Amino acid sequence: MLKKIFEILYDTYGPQYWWPSDSDFETAVGAILTQSVSWRNVEMAINNLRRMDLLNPKKMYACLTGILEKCIKPAGFFKVKARRLKNFLEFLKDYDFDFDELKKFDTPTLRKVLLNVSGIGKETADTMLLYIFKRPVFVIDAYTIRLFERLTNEGKKTYDELQEFFQNNLENDPDLFGEFHALIVVHCKTVCKKKPVCSVCKINQNNLCKKAKMV
Ligand code: SF4
Repeated sequence: MLKKIFEILYDTYGPQYWWPSDSDFETAVGAILTQSVSWRNVEMAINNLRRMDLLNPKKMYACLTGILEKCIKPAGFFKVKARRLKNFLEFLKDYDFDFDELKKFDTPTLRKVLLNVSGIGKETADTMLLYIFKRPVFVIDAYTIRLFERLTNEGKKTYDELQEFFQNNLENDPDLFGEFHALIVVHCKTVCKKKPVCSVCKINQNNLCKKAKMV
């Protein structure tokens, strides 16, 4: 079923080219900033950081927290997120700000060390594992939970349950996981919204949704 859903979404929306960034560090910053806010706002924050030449871990580490807060203000919760960025940078400093050093870890160890950074939760850690380190770890977000609750009509699954479900039922391919996650996001933003538009949903047209409504 999962592969079929992927194919339908891919045929509908095409490749999403995630994660949109110029460097591993920019991806990490985006993953930290994107929590609870739209990507458009994250882009504004990232553009501010770029203008200030702060999309470099050493430069961001050295910059005053107040300047960082000002740059990332469009991404919301800016004080909390600035603290999270600083925590992440403190962690990165132990590895000479070099992502290649982190790439030496196996996946469970890397996930564990990322989750140990204060303010980095499962979704952020898994986003980094998938899109920076190219590890076969499925990212679960609120959209994924909502979509699969509707598709299966089996009630809401937890982060871990749903992640296990994806990882056990798809081939272990980080490119596939990355594309699938992006496609779920685009589908849930445009069709399977809070109030779903089932009448135009391609998943519905393939009779694969248990909660479909033809309205
Ligand atoms: S049929 Fe409706 S509820 Fe089901 S996936 Fe499509 S939009 Fe969502």
